[in-house]
Amino acid sequence: MTEFISKLEIKKIHQFVQKTQQIAQKVDIFCSAILLQAWRRMYYVFNKREIYTSLKRRQGNCLRCGRCCHASFKCQHLGYDENGLSLCKVYDRKPHMCSLYPYNESDYFYHLKPTCGYKYNDE
Ligand code: SF4
Repeated sequence: MTEFISKLEIKKIHQFVQKTQQIAQKVDIFCSAILLQAWRRMYYVFNKREIYTSLKRRQGNCLRCGRCCHASFKCQHLGYDENGLSLCKVYDRKPHMCSLYPYNESDYFYHLKPTCGYKYNDE
């Protein structure tokens, strides 16, 4: 009986640890996304020429997953079409920083880099 109770407790502790790890991962993703958003804007102000040069090396296409549009907070202009593909409701006048994503190999939300359709040829 004691063994059964301790097994139950171990299971509860294990579930608690798993839940805590999941929350910590979400906080980590959120914070790193906010930091990248701030950093990439600041970097753009001082390194425009370098950014436009590196953009020439960008390959692939946007897969319209829309995940970069809610890497931290969900963009209010993000929508989805009938096929589930992301749709920018203000595409014709969307912020310039959106169209530049990712502007070099460092300009990725780290959790989205493996699945983004854009790649840099030296990767
Ligand atoms: S994460 Fe990459 S593929 Fe997905 S919407 Fe953003 S730019 Fe496009």
